[in-house]
Amino acid sequence: MAVRWELLKQDPASAARLGRLHTPHGVIETPVFMPVGTQATVKTLNPEEVWDLGARIILSNTYHLYLRPGHDLVQEAGGLHRFMNWKGAVLTDSGGFQVFSLADLRKITEEGVQFRSHIDGSTHFLTPEKATEIQNALGADIIMAFDECTPWPCDHDYARRSLERTTRWAARCKVAHARPEAQALFGIVQGSTFADLRRQAAEEIVELDFPGYGIGGLSVGEPKELMHEMLEVQVPLLPADRPRYLMGVGSPEDLVESVWRGVDMFDCVLPTRIARHGTVFLPDGKMTVRNAEFARDFLPIQEGCDCYACRNYSRAYIRHLMKADEMLGLRLCSIHNLRFLVRTMEEIRAALAAGTFAEYRRTFLERWHAGEAERRARIRTGTGRAGGPMGPSEPAVPQNR
Ligand SMILES: [Zn+2]
Repeated sequence: MAVRWELLKQDPASAARLGRLHTPHGVIETPVFMPVGTQATVKTLNPEEVWDLGARIILSNTYHLYLRPGHDLVQEAGGLHRFMNWKGAVLTDSGGFQVFSLADLRKITEEGVQFRSHIDGSTHFLTPEKATEIQNALGADIIMAFDECTPWPCDHDYARRSLERTTRWAARCKVAHARPEAQALFGIVQGSTFADLRRQAAEEIVELDFPGYGIGGLSVGEPKELMHEMLEVQVPLLPADRPRYLMGVGSPEDLVESVWRGVDMFDCVLPTRIARHGTVFLPDGKMTVRNAEFARDFLPIQEGCDCYACRNYSRAYIRHLMKADEMLGLRLCSIHNLRFLVRTMEEIRAALAAGTFAEYRRTFLERWHAGEAERRARIRTGTGRAGGPMGPSEPAVPQNR
């Protein structure tokens, strides 16, 4: 088996688990956050910088690499690890989420999904077999089954038909998987925000017996309480000895809340995406360092933070870089945000090892929610440090979960 997950400690107060994921490219302590490298690069960082943040596994995207530069080329280069010079582990998404996000550019059939490239408009047909073949060529340690991620909201009948198709597609991916000794294929459970469908999806996908399970179709716009409720329904139905990966989730409070509910792995573009607007994570919620009030603030982004940005630069300097559209500003905000999430996971693991995770969660969430409530109040009244919106919305190109 390519990947094996080892339980180190079950938290007595919650569903949280401390564990270890053994992969062909090293051992990864869980719970873990995986930085996203959509185009085989974590935006603006080189691999040594990603490693120095403490990251040991990153995510890359099948859809993007298939269209450009092409999976054949990556295979010819010796696989994704060698192509991008990353010595840690890699997980690739199946491309399903991106293809389904191209709402007016795709057509779904039982066989697969026809879509038009967002790059040049060319037509492609992605099937479970093709998505698996592409991921076999890319060579990631963990690959994902080709699933349909339903939008939210979505009606019960559509969600049911979609999850049943996802189950049939998962079985086809398993048959098509050509390198099970070198790459672990994870199944994905869907079910939208319907408890009965979440149960049905878990039962059907677990029946197929995968070495790990992705939880998809959450954090797609539904209220947080619904996401928590669905995790509470679905996670206990997944095998206790396999890793559970909540796809596309990565805001600090979501990480803490989802670990509490038994999730082991996360990925999200949020830390690098908000960095583009000069927004950074603090224990008291988000802060936009680009705002005018930081023009003469010579403190680091976060006092006491051990990241490269905070050890060397001030808010005033980073604000200046962002205002001048200098790339270093974006890099420094990205480094801080990624380190913040990786460190949050380190703290969670330490709390789990010490048996103090319930206390950690309470303290973390109290501080985070109080800070975010204050920030929202300031945005409403147009005063103070938050000062304004987080920046323009994203263009209509396929995003990560
Ligand atoms: Zn920092």
